[in-house]
Amino acid sequence: MSRDLKKEIDEIRRSGRISREGLELILTAPAGDDTGYLFEAARDTSLRIFGRDIYLRGLVEFTSHCKNDCYYCGIRRSNTKADRYRLTEEEILACCDAGAGLGFSTFVLQGGDDPYYDDERMCHIISSIRARHPDCAITLSIGERSRKTYQSYYDAGANRYLLRHETANEDHYGMLHPSSMSGKDRKRCLFDLKEIGYQVGCGIMVGTPCQTRDDIYEDILFMQELGPHMIGIGPFIAHKDTPFANEDNGSVDVTLKLLAILRLIFPKVLLPATTALGTADGAGREKGILAGANVLMPNLSPPDVRGKYLLYDGKICTGEEAAECRICLQKRIESIGYHVSDDRGDHPDFRN
Ligand code: SAH
Repeated sequence: MSRDLKKEIDEIRRSGRISREGLELILTAPAGDDTGYLFEAARDTSLRIFGRDIYLRGLVEFTSHCKNDCYYCGIRRSNTKADRYRLTEEEILACCDAGAGLGFSTFVLQGGDDPYYDDERMCHIISSIRARHPDCAITLSIGERSRKTYQSYYDAGANRYLLRHETANEDHYGMLHPSSMSGKDRKRCLFDLKEIGYQVGCGIMVGTPCQTRDDIYEDILFMQELGPHMIGIGPFIAHKDTPFANEDNGSVDVTLKLLAILRLIFPKVLLPATTALGTADGAGREKGILAGANVLMPNLSPPDVRGKYLLYDGKICTGEEAAECRICLQKRIESIGYHVSDDRGDHPDFRN
């Protein structure tokens, strides 16, 4: 393998930083020996911090209504073909109860940006989950809100928030979203969440239309500025009823390389091998773990709504029960020599 590349990888590992040239060298390196060294370094780092533990997050996709119109997303407001649903508080609680029975200690409530769940409704849901599962971690992934609203969720018992910044470059952000949305607002939300005391996750899609390696470099710099506890990345996958229907999907290869780079830069970060990665490649989640990821997010949504929460085409695990997903993932994890942890899986520097 190229000496330059090995030097670059060793340097990222040593310094926790990457140069623009280093990123270029890695992202353009051919698969094989060259990338093997990168994945091995990332895996080693993850093993040193987390051992062979993989944390599970039970995902409850509780609404497919959305007031936003992001060009890439299958549940965008303008997609009149999307099948819309909302779960009641009782249904959400039943998902969490089922998850707790399967050994999950973290629940992620994700949905479109849906005004039906106003502050009062949302806080009621959060505090009811907290009352029934006092020791669990409650993660929200419901988009941009005011600082006051984020504070009220936190006071009701939420402790983590996932809000991918999608792209740090403002011009690129403008190519992926209508002009009513701004990257600045999204970044502001992330800093607000962090200040309030949440464990915060940012992230990007890999291979969105017009994304350049300069953009990706800007994303890494933004992440270094934010200091996230979690980073969610997965390949962009086109959805047939969106403006990006005919765009190319993101590369699995580049996604895996980025996972490895992020593991080297942020050794302690919680890094999921995402469902999108598992959709783009049947063994994508296993490959993700072997490239440094340490989190999986199995679906706890009721089977009758799973086929309606379609952010992109071909999404996996839409036909299964929660228990089946849990067993399937456990087998996959064990087949590569790792095991499921029943720990909450907080960031190593974080306790709340
Ligand atoms: N409404 C919430 C949750 C969005 S869905 C919010 O605004 O944060 C969670 C993530 O799915 C998004 O942040 C986006 O990065 C990803 N996503 C959406 N459409 C996608 C697509 N077509 N391919 C891959 N990932 C997609």
